[in-house]
This record gives sequence, C-alpha cells and structure tokens, in this order.
Amino acid sequence: MSLEIIPVSEWGIKNERPILIAGPCSVETEEQVMQTALRLKETNLDVLRGGIWKPRTRPNSFEGVGSVGLRWLKNAGRAIGVPVTTEVANAKHVYEALREQIDILWVGARTTVNPFAVQEIADALRGIDIPVLVKNPVNPDLPLWIGAFERLNAAGITKIGAIHRGFSTYGKSKYRNKPHWEIPIELKRQIPELPIIVDPSHITGKREMIHPVSQKALDLDFNGLMIESHITPDKALSDARQQITPERMVSIKKALLLRDNTTDNEVFLDRLEELRDSIDGIDERVIEVLAERMDVARQIGQCKKENNITILQKDRWDNIFQQRRDKGLDKGLTEDFMVDLYNSIHKESIRQQERIMNKGEDLK
Ligand code: PEP
Ligand code: MN
Repeated sequence: MSLEIIPVSEWGIKNERPILIAGPCSVETEEQVMQTALRLKETNLDVLRGGIWKPRTRPNSFEGVGSVGLRWLKNAGRAIGVPVTTEVANAKHVYEALREQIDILWVGARTTVNPFAVQEIADALRGIDIPVLVKNPVNPDLPLWIGAFERLNAAGITKIGAIHRGFSTYGKSKYRNKPHWEIPIELKRQIPELPIIVDPSHITGKREMIHPVSQKALDLDFNGLMIESHITPDKALSDARQQITPERMVSIKKALLLRDNTTDNEVFLDRLEELRDSIDGIDERVIEVLAERMDVARQIGQCKKENNITILQKDRWDNIFQQRRDKGLDKGLTEDFMVDLYNSIHKESIRQQERIMNKGEDLK
C-alpha cells in the first residue's frame, strides 16, 4: 500500500496517548457548544468535535444548524485552545468549513460508502493542507474504506486518519453498529502508519457501554477515541442515548487504563488481542452455523408433523452421533467434547422440533 501519510505528531494537535476527540453529536446553539467545550476542558481533550450538517436516517429529524454553527464551534475551540473538527459530505460543506477555519474535517460513514461523494470532497480539498479523518463505510467493506484514503491521498491530502465507528447490521445486536474489530485490525496491518481513532459512541449507541468499549479500543492499541458529549444528553437533538455529560467524560478518561508499552510486552499483548479477536470472529460464525442447523431441524419437524411421524428416530440419531464423533476425533478434538457437544446439539434440535410439533407453530 503506497500511501503518503504525515504522522499525527506533525498535525499540530496535542497528540496525547490516547488522542481524545470529544464534543456534541450536533452543534445546537452557540451557548451549548461553548458550555460543552468549557466543561470538557478538564479531560485535556485534543480536538473538539461538533456536527453541523447531520446525515439522519429518517427525514423530519434535526438535520443540523448548518453553516451558522461553524463559527460557534470554532469560537468554542478557541476558548479552550483546541482545534475543532466537523463532518463534511460534499464540496459545499468543504468550502464553508474552510472559510470558517475549521481545523480538521471528517468524512461520515454514510459518505464513505459513496466513491462519487468522496471524490468530490477530495477534489474540493486539492492543494489544501488540512487533516481529514475518514469514518468506515456503514457496510463492512475494507477496500471501500481504503479507497477513500487513496482518493484523498491522490488529491494531495497527506494528514489522513481513520475513525472506526462500527458497521450496521440487520436485526438485534447489543451494539448500534457492530465493531467487527478484525476489520480495523486488518486496516492497521495493511497501513501501519495510518492513525486509527475508535468512536465508541456510534459503535454502542448507549452511554453505559462507552467506557468498556473505549477500554477495549485502548487495549487493542488504537490511537485514540472520538466520544460524543452533551451538557444535557437527554435533551440532545440527535443521538441522545449515546451522549455523555462532560463530567462523565472526565471520569471515564481518568478510569481508562493505558497499557505499558515496553516493546516485548506490547508485541506479545498485541498478538494476544489479535488472536482473541480472531476467536470472537470464529465464535460468531459458529453461532450462525448452529442457528442454520436448527433452522433445518425445524424444517424436519414440519415434515414430520405433516406426515405424522415421531420426533425421535433412534437409528438416525445413533448414526449421526457416531459419525460426528469420529470426524471430531479425526480433527484432534477429544471424545468427551464431541459427546457433550452432540448431546447438547441433539437436545436443542428436539426442543426446536417440539416447538413446531406441539405448540402449533408452523413454518412460514
Ligand atoms: C457523527 O459522528 O455524529 C456521525 C453522524 O457519525 P457516523 O458518520 O459514524 O454515523
Ligand atoms: Mn452522532
């Protein structure tokens, strides 16, 4: 990967470890952004954030105050002596943000998915020396994320960084956007000099999870955190559930543990985290495969129900048991494990089939 990247230490920000970017999801009023900044000062933040143009999922939600808020954001940053950053999604946003001397720009997750939009932003920035952070695309597509850095780099932007904000999924999850840590880890492997900031606010969608996910990000040795903070989170006009008060931000910052980085140790710990992440990914697949298996079991239940056949057919089960056990032994798994595993799978299959047979539940 031949990207030309200027290290964060030369971006003119404090560059603490971890870098902390904090501030409201949206700039709402001059007073709100100023108060947030003043109260966040104690966190020793590196950069003040604030959304001016908000990409909302549904229309008729608050879509940001627009360009008038740029000056409020800039003044709030000046008041506490830190650079400010906002999201740009098109060339007009870029020109307006530059006119108001916004120090750092970020490209949002819904923009990174669209190469036309990223190219438009890159073209608008040609010849300008400003740091640009790029959030991952909403879908888990690493080449698309990397493509955005390449487009910016080709336009001469060399102060570039990534923001990992998780990936959207369909269906229930404890995260608002699933982290899929293996993706930013792979990004770090492919482009080691690219700083990666983690955004626990958009990953979790909830205040209570900001601290543990921030700690996880530090344990994985990412470079920093972007966290949303609001003076009255419950009254926030966007992302209320995930915003924390500046005071909570101060206490989280104090509680975060920074691992020692004696070289040997770090290599070992990084490797350990990488392996654990790979286990997390594999377990996710294991659960998906098990769910798929149970889905087929329910279909068998439906067939048996329609043909008035009993659930348990002993010969078939003895057969499965023996075959799977042998296969497991072949692969180096222990007999005890295979017995426990298949007893448990069998029990669950029967439970699932019973639901179909007895409870009048029919497959659609
Ligand atoms: C934001 O940071 O407020 C935002 C809109 O984020 P994302 O692009 O990650 O959804
Ligand atoms: Mn937000």
